[in-house]
Amino acid sequence: MAVSFTLSDHQKQLKAAARSFARTKLRPLMERVESERDPRTRALLLQPVFAEAVSEGFLRGLIPAPFGGTASNGVDAAILIEEWAAESPDFFISFAGPLIALGPVYEAGTPEQISRFVSPFLADEGSPVAAMAFSEPTGSANFAAETPAAGIRTHAVLDGDEWVINGHKAWASHLPGWDGDGPEIMTITCRTQAGVSVIVAEREQLAGRIEVEEYYDLPGLRGSLTTRVHLKDVRVPHANLIGSEGDGVRLTLNAFMASGASIGAFATASARQAWSIAYNFAREEARGGLSPIIDHQAVSDVLADTKGKIEAMRLLSWRALDAVIAQDPDGPELALHAKIFGSEAAVEVITALVKIVGVTAYDTGFPILHHLLDAIAYPIMEGSNTGVRRRQLQRIFSAPDYDPLSASGLTEIG
Ligand SMILES: Cc1cc2nc3c(=O)[nH]c(=O)nc-3n(C[C@H](O)[C@H](O)[C@H](O)COP(=O)(O)OP(=O)(O)OC[C@H]3O[C@@H](n4cnc5c(N)ncnc54)[C@H](O)[C@@H]3O)c2cc1C
Repeated sequence: MAVSFTLSDHQKQLKAAARSFARTKLRPLMERVESERDPRTRALLLQPVFAEAVSEGFLRGLIPAPFGGTASNGVDAAILIEEWAAESPDFFISFAGPLIALGPVYEAGTPEQISRFVSPFLADEGSPVAAMAFSEPTGSANFAAETPAAGIRTHAVLDGDEWVINGHKAWASHLPGWDGDGPEIMTITCRTQAGVSVIVAEREQLAGRIEVEEYYDLPGLRGSLTTRVHLKDVRVPHANLIGSEGDGVRLTLNAFMASGASIGAFATASARQAWSIAYNFAREEARGGLSPIIDHQAVSDVLADTKGKIEAMRLLSWRALDAVIAQDPDGPELALHAKIFGSEAAVEVITALVKIVGVTAYDTGFPILHHLLDAIAYPIMEGSNTGVRRRQLQRIFSAPDYDPLSASGLTEIG
């Protein structure tokens, strides 16, 4: 395994372009989003900036090169995610729908399906969105459970050459699309006669078939378009089934692998921002004492411990995203560590930093608490660490041929 942590010239340019876009476009956008009370109105504020990001080629940067995009490695993805999530994780969640929703298409789609479902996201204009419709309002941790448990409840029934899909979906960004007629594609985890399956619905099949039952008013990630919807008699060609009937559990779990690893980069971004805020406060504020509070050992110790954790989170998320995108067999284990460790470390780090700032942090006008409200989502989104992610690690560890050194590339020879 070659190891280098020096950014290439291309990666330095990517970081500069991503940071510039984040600071000039996303920062002012987020100020407007924060002050808008209605969840739908504030999510729609993102659309013009979304279109600008598409025109600058960032969306193609999320599509792997073999499928027509320009994404070539996981570290590039980690750099983009961290820079954008530092200013607006909600924007990146909105933008990165294809990262999850196209996962099953890349894994098991036919060449015709790949071409049809990927093409809207290779555009250099407009604001195409994708939704991975897995979660349901009644729960998803046990989606693969068989009767008498409910498991996944959305179902698809064949009628001639079409699937007829009915059910309720929630939480996935952009389930109704910008205008209520659906995203460009919705990848739907559902029950068919042969088990859990994955079927892609396109916008023309979704239009008029989505009833929005609620716009969730999230405490953090305020610009996310997050809803509960009723899919009513969505009719989709039989040819939109991905893989075979019954492949849905594997395809769904795999779809969340890259996005799970990316949570490590989101978590790093929130923690990095909170650290800078607390650090500047500690250097500038004496709080009535003789010297800035950073001179107190207790304050400095927290800065030291939290900075070390942030560096570890970043490296793990780079490693995990690199492994997942390179389809390294150890990618799933690394992605799960990046997701669980990164998300829980971010909440711990920001909570510790809030304590060194003290009471000032509790004023919503002071810019640290909103990073905690964003970060608190990371242990529960993309599969909660309690209900989903640790169980996936348990399964990996339970395999008879599991090698604990393999994820580090240190398997013994011979
Ligand atoms: C901002 C945001 C974006 C999201 N984006 C998407 C998306 O794009 N697509 C999508 O489909 N979903 C999305 N989600 C939902 C997300 O993936 C959830 O993690 C998922 O719905 C599973 O939630 P859960 O694990 O809490 O499951 P639930 O089924 O709601 O379970 C609730 C809790 O019960 C306990 N539990 C249940 N069963 C078990 C068990 N067998 N073992 C141990 N504990 C158990 C756990 O504590 C679990 O957290 C998003 C959520 C957020 C907040």
